[in-house]
Amino acid sequence: MGEFELIDRYFKRPTTRAVLGVGDDCALLQPTAGMQLAISSDMLVEGRHFFADVDPSTLGHKALAVNLSDLAACGARPLAFTLALALPRVDEIWLAPFSRGLLALADSHGCELVGGDTTQGPLNICITVFGEVPQGQALLRSGAGAGDDIYVSGTLGDARLALDAIRADLALPAELLQDLRHRLEQPTPRVALGLALRGVASAAIDISDGLTGDLGHLLKASGVGATVDASIAMNLIAVRAHSTWANGLFSHEKLLQCVLAGGDDYELAFTAPVAARDAVQLASHQTQTPITRIGQVEAEPGLRVVDDQGRTLQFKAASFDHFA
Ligand code: ADP
Ligand code: MG
Repeated sequence: MGEFELIDRYFKRPTTRAVLGVGDDCALLQPTAGMQLAISSDMLVEGRHFFADVDPSTLGHKALAVNLSDLAACGARPLAFTLALALPRVDEIWLAPFSRGLLALADSHGCELVGGDTTQGPLNICITVFGEVPQGQALLRSGAGAGDDIYVSGTLGDARLALDAIRADLALPAELLQDLRHRLEQPTPRVALGLALRGVASAAIDISDGLTGDLGHLLKASGVGATVDASIAMNLIAVRAHSTWANGLFSHEKLLQCVLAGGDDYELAFTAPVAARDAVQLASHQTQTPITRIGQVEAEPGLRVVDDQGRTLQFKAASFDHFA
């Protein structure tokens, strides 16, 4: 199969929203009047972001999920995406499930594949998403004010625990390992929550590189600091509630490390004024997305992590850095 047959078979779909999709030199989108375009790219590289033997359908899901997560963090509604793909060879055993996983998530968000590029090379997946948001209403990293509450959606730390368990080839109960894997390989982008937080949240970011690092970016962009309660955050690691959870399998320090700095969570961290607490709860309820209040924004720069006694934990808020 050649390049064009491959594109036709696995990536060309009729479009409904886009004016023009795959097949011409450019795709054409017609943004709704009064809306701003929100654009973001994320690349997944074999050996760096995923294992070579990962299930291709979950890889297709994740490649788009991490991009939709950025739209969610901006409160933007997904419209369309492009896919730039480097493949070592044409392998339909791989391509079919990859495109299925990718397009299933795309369909569930009404986000159309409108173009891309396909080349031979080491496996590399780069997606660019396009979304729209009413003029001036995008959620930014820079809007947090002293006194605001800090919230996170969903659960934290499980994806990192999964990565460590897979790397160390830990003998975990099958059911537990499966749930951990699911968190690592099939994250849920919080698109609906992001939309519901427009006009409610003062600032937002998606947690891709770990809570403290990403929250640190938000605080820095807003010119403020914060205190986060580690004992609350600790409850956010989902595997602890697991029926086959083996107590003592992982140390408290290990779990705390995963929650605070794990990465690959794709939850939203956001701030909102105290006066907006009811509105935040409503957004959570309406979108059926669990959220937890974990701390408070303060004027003093820096991120402080405290235990249930209010004692400051020694913790280096470092974000994942590919070149550090
Ligand atoms: P060009 O010659 O302009 O680079 P190509 O021949 O690479 O265009 O691609 C032909 C058409 O197929 C274009 O519309 C392009 O957007 C689309 N396309 C190429 N690769 C992909 C892909 N992986 N997914 C979706 N569309 C693709
Ligand atoms: Mg091309």
